[in-house]
Amino acid sequence: RLINLAELTPYILCSICKGYLIDATTITECLHTFCKSCIVRHFYYSNRCPKCNIVVHQTQPLYNIRLDRQLQDIVYKLVINLEEREKKQMHDFYKERGLEVPKPAMPQTAPSSKGRAKKVLESVFRIPPELDMSLLLEFIGANEGTGHFKPLEKKFVRVSGEATIGHVEKFLRRKMGLDPACQVDIVCGDHLLERYQTLREIRRAIGDAAMQDGLLVLHYGLVVSPLKIT
Ligand SMILES: [Zn+2]
Ligand SMILES: [Zn+2]
Repeated sequence: RLINLAELTPYILCSICKGYLIDATTITECLHTFCKSCIVRHFYYSNRCPKCNIVVHQTQPLYNIRLDRQLQDIVYKLVINLEEREKKQMHDFYKERGLEVPKPAMPQTAPSSKGRAKKVLESVFRIPPELDMSLLLEFIGANEGTGHFKPLEKKFVRVSGEATIGHVEKFLRRKMGLDPACQVDIVCGDHLLERYQTLREIRRAIGDAAMQDGLLVLHYGLVVSPLKIT
């Protein structure tokens, strides 16, 4: 008999984005499934399942999620054109921003019936637990006289919350090849940050205003060091 798609829909929808599951990812503790990008973003600010509220993992909920290839195959079979639409959207998203298009999370050649008994759920992430903070580094600009520098290649960085603004500055100096005469000012919200401040303190002190999609947002600008002017 033919099954109406509407009957199945509740099982193939993501309760976070209300759309069809994309890169279906299942929490191993409660077996609830979401899109990979939806659940990963959710875990930036929560360690609980969005559906049943159990604690997925005290500190690293990403450890306890797995890609569910079989379920994703079912979704793609049931919803005509979804896979193509999704691929095209992702392709366009990266192309518009001049970025390299990443390889799909699911390999093109899914194992056929022979692979049925194989382990279905695959590990999604392995992030060392000490790297508990995600940074978004936004460039404000550079004053005249700061010399040559390379633009930062990646503005997303995963670091320990114990790291200080001094560490972030060192990182920027190295990656951008900054002139020693150049001073790096790092700002969060409208606070100019001090070198001794840790990222964890900053997040605590500034709160939600410091965050965007679970990332701590730091702006940095280059000025000529006042020590060099005199
Ligand atoms: Zn979703
Ligand atoms: Zn759950």
